[in-house]
Amino acid sequence: MADFCRQCSIDTFGEDYRDMAGISKPEDTAQELYAQVICEGCGVTSVDHEGVCVSPACMEKHGVKQPVNPLFIG
Ligand SMILES: [Zn+2]
Ligand SMILES: [Zn+2]
Repeated sequence: MADFCRQCSIDTFGEDYRDMAGISKPEDTAQELYAQVICEGCGVTSVDHEGVCVSPACMEKHGVKQPVNPLFIG
């Protein structure tokens, strides 16, 4: 029994299994209220109603905004 956030599900299986979708509601996400979960991939974190990891403090730092083109430098 393992649960993965969207990013870890896609990273691990190549598909979003939505393990953590539906724990909270769209209204909660609109208010920036997120469900506390333990993801098998990125640890103790928070997910929105779609199961998307939103925590910048998870082990994979999923909530940190990434540059659009991280390899397009120089
Ligand atoms: Zn995860
Ligand atoms: Zn994460």
